[in-house]
Amino acid sequence: MIDAHIHLDQYDQTGIKEMINKWSENGIAGVVAVSTNLKSSYDILKLKQEYPNFIRAAIGHHPEEPPPNTRDLYELIDLVHQERKQLAGIGEIGLPTYKKEELYTKYSEEQFIDVLETFLRVAKKENLPVSLHAVHEEAKKALISLKKLKVELAHFHWLKASASTVNEIVSSGYFVSVTPEVCYRERDQLLVKQIPLEQLLIETDGPWQHGGPFSERQTTPLLLKEITTCLANILHIRYNELLEIICHNTKQLW
Ligand SMILES: [Zn+2]
Repeated sequence: MIDAHIHLDQYDQTGIKEMINKWSENGIAGVVAVSTNLKSSYDILKLKQEYPNFIRAAIGHHPEEPPPNTRDLYELIDLVHQERKQLAGIGEIGLPTYKKEELYTKYSEEQFIDVLETFLRVAKKENLPVSLHAVHEEAKKALISLKKLKVELAHFHWLKASASTVNEIVSSGYFVSVTPEVCYRERDQLLVKQIPLEQLLIETDGPWQHGGPFSERQTTPLLLKEITTCLANILHIRYNELLEIICHNTKQLW
């Protein structure tokens, strides 16, 4: 199984080799490692060099951070073109929700949309998928940009959105991932029933600390097995069959 969204550079790097070995020994075939800014993008590319078969690398700028300055943005775009062969996609990109109030006192929403659309154009040009942080009302806004720029390969990570927006996302052919939250949160359990099986991915967003039954446990790709078990129950499908479908989906996009 493959973790479709993880922040590998945010784990203690002194133990990363042991961690990756342990994950691999326990059935984790790989991860989609996303970046949060320019420095993080260099770090992910370095990790990709060290673990080329385990990591599918994505570089980008996280939307809950202040927008990148022009120099950093262009350096990131140059990096996408230069490192194209090392990359599986672009991310994490999108629009701010949780820090919106604070960010919009200093920056305008248009600035964030501009940055998002700049990345989307690059993704389109390089034929790369995007890992999107676009939830609630921002999911709808990101959809408008995707449609406007005719982007076909997109993954809405840890999606939370109205039923109508979710519908629009899946009918546009985009992928959606769920996290360990699907095991203990009704909102996510309802959402997952709206996603066609062939567009469903699983992720941990590690090292993000999850709650419920996972509140005492470190978030790692090892939680993917539990996510799959929960999904098999919710969707009334056999574990192995589901595993195969999700794995196929992840490889198809990433
Ligand atoms: Zn993330």
